[in-house]
Amino acid sequence: MLPPFTIVRPASLTEACATLAGDPDATAYAGGTELIIAMKLGLADYAVLVDLKPLPELAEITLGDGRLRIGATATHRRITHSPEVATAFPALGAALRHIANPRVRNTGTIGGNLAFGEPHSDPATLLVAADAEISCHGADGRSRRVAAADFLQGPFQTCLSPGELITSIDVPRPHPNRSAIGFRRFVLTERAVALAAVRLDTSGDVIVDARVVVGAATPRPVRANAAEQLLIGSPATLDQVSARTVGQAAAEASDIDARDAEADADYLRHLVAVLVEDAVGDAVSALPGPK
Ligand SMILES: Cc1cc2nc3c(=O)[nH]c(=O)nc-3n(C[C@H](O)[C@H](O)[C@H](O)COP(=O)(O)OP(=O)(O)OC[C@H]3O[C@@H](n4cnc5c(N)ncnc54)[C@H](O)[C@@H]3O)c2cc1C
Repeated sequence: MLPPFTIVRPASLTEACATLAGDPDATAYAGGTELIIAMKLGLADYAVLVDLKPLPELAEITLGDGRLRIGATATHRRITHSPEVATAFPALGAALRHIANPRVRNTGTIGGNLAFGEPHSDPATLLVAADAEISCHGADGRSRRVAAADFLQGPFQTCLSPGELITSIDVPRPHPNRSAIGFRRFVLTERAVALAAVRLDTSGDVIVDARVVVGAATPRPVRANAAEQLLIGSPATLDQVSARTVGQAAAEASDIDARDAEADADYLRHLVAVLVEDAVGDAVSALPGPK
């Protein structure tokens, strides 16, 4: 049963942070898709929910010269339909189109997804590949930006301090003629069992930079450095045999965590190898220019 609680609607971000910092029984509330379930199951108990949705500064999606900014309370559905996201980070819009179910996509927010620290998070894995930064605002009035790779610290653990809120996610715009992202997920029931995101940057016909990120099968999204090193310096027309080698390197290097009953460590390693291989292939195919 859901315990009783009060919803407060702060007039400003400052008021929201102050309320959260000043009351240990208060927590942030956005779409409620994780929070309300946790409260119903008795895993969390808060007397005060600080509703972030009325704060307009947390809702905007904007495209500047060098970056895409997605407000923390942007829902998965809004991100999926955003022209700004379609222009600057189409892989994110495409991925969020397939997560969860319509109810969660309509109300769940990207800020709530990241702040909950759920290790199966699709956007977290993609945001690490895209070199995104998470903007946070604390009760002391200070704002800071944290690299997406450092934001999630383990299952349900983030670097947020008490009273600190995610305000936006900033994604640098990649060079459209030189960069591509591939993203693959494997789902058995509800959330992904394993995720792979691969970003390639090229100069001429050569891959000059690479991000290979494994998620869900690991305690948090992690970069597979050995796999990245195999890609850097390779031709942008990388063949499938090479992509398979990259996938195997990613699977061997990743800190696989078989915490779910759905898959044991060997199966997770196999999934990671296949997903990375396919994501490399997708990224290679998406690179502009002759193949
Ligand atoms: C059935 C189901 C299937 C799902 N499948 C997937 C999936 O396939 N892939 C995937 O990636 N996700 C999946 N999810 C997770 C979903 O994306 C999240 O539930 C949603 O994004 C959380 O956002 P919310 O606004 O509802 O967060 P809330 O439930 O409101 O909050 C979640 C947590 O974050 C805190 N919080 C919220 N906003 C902020 C903020 N701005 N700053 C700091 N703290 C904040 C809250 O205090 C709470 O602790 C699934 C969820 C469900 C219920």
